[in-house]
Amino acid sequence: MTSLPHLVLTGSPYERGLTHGERFAEEIRMNVETYLTRFAQHGAKEEVVRRQATEYVPLVEEWNPDYASELRGIADGSGVPIEEVMLLNVRYEILYASYSDQTAGTDGCTSFGLLPTATADGKTYVGQNWDWAVPIADTLLVTETHQRDGSDHIAITEAGIVGGKMGVNEHGIGLVINGLVSPDDGEHPFRKPFHLRCREILDATRFDSTLESIIATPHACSANYVVGHGDGEVIDIETSPNRTDHVYPRDGIVTHANHFMTSGFESRMERQLPDSLYRANRLRRLFEHQRGAIDTEIMKSALCDHFGRPASICRHEDPDAPVEERSRTDTSVILDLDDRTLHATYGPPCDEDYRTYRLGE
Ligand SMILES: [Zn+2]
Repeated sequence: MTSLPHLVLTGSPYERGLTHGERFAEEIRMNVETYLTRFAQHGAKEEVVRRQATEYVPLVEEWNPDYASELRGIADGSGVPIEEVMLLNVRYEILYASYSDQTAGTDGCTSFGLLPTATADGKTYVGQNWDWAVPIADTLLVTETHQRDGSDHIAITEAGIVGGKMGVNEHGIGLVINGLVSPDDGEHPFRKPFHLRCREILDATRFDSTLESIIATPHACSANYVVGHGDGEVIDIETSPNRTDHVYPRDGIVTHANHFMTSGFESRMERQLPDSLYRANRLRRLFEHQRGAIDTEIMKSALCDHFGRPASICRHEDPDAPVEERSRTDTSVILDLDDRTLHATYGPPCDEDYRTYRLGE
């Protein structure tokens, strides 16, 4: 495979889920196996994980009935039990809850947002390298979702997960994300899950309701959300279970990695990923040299940066790390929010070309 598969989802939420489940049944099973193994490596007992996932089913139905219905469709379409599909959808909440030893690896990513003043074509962009476990790359897909109640959007997700983490909708609202860790993660797991928030961001019609999806209710685990609008706005929002804060672009550029940039948080993930401390600053500098002239080729080139390889912006497997802890850039993503277009690679961007996915094509 040299590009991510493109799946068009139409009809009711349940029908969309059925299509997703039928087409990606094998990948969904692979994901369940991968995450159950990972939870076990981090000390979470399988029976506890399964019970936790089951407890989320009525909660997700209450928080967002359409999300729950689409999830049920995925379970029925794939033949995978609903608590296993739920387990994928709440994997952040479960995985982060098992992080008490603070030694486990997790998603490491480098993200950015660019305002029209920084870009060559005067458009607004967000993007990122999404760094995660190597086997997950084979279960990624681009979903193009057309819905009656909610915005049409195009996004990248893991097979079995309803809410795409990187995407753009018909109103020009775009999202990319970073993993963060704070000591309070997982203390209150039964709060609105990360992936459900991602879906609500891409369902939004207005930018203020996008922000509301992130900040209005308390979180179970930390995360960073870079949200943008094609009319020329980008805001980076850092969240933990106890607080949220935000970073605005400076001189039209904002970048983020896997540590909190604002004060007031106890940031933990850089203990596992010390490279986080240089990745965001470095990406910013690579852009600053070209401010006002940044085009997609410059974005791609910056995302291919190998300083500190393998722990670089373009991340590669560390041959000295245990196999189960290795990560790499599973996909590199650039979102053109004006044109509602997603450019993405399968694997590290230095090895693979970007394929273009446009909403509505
Ligand atoms: Zn590379």
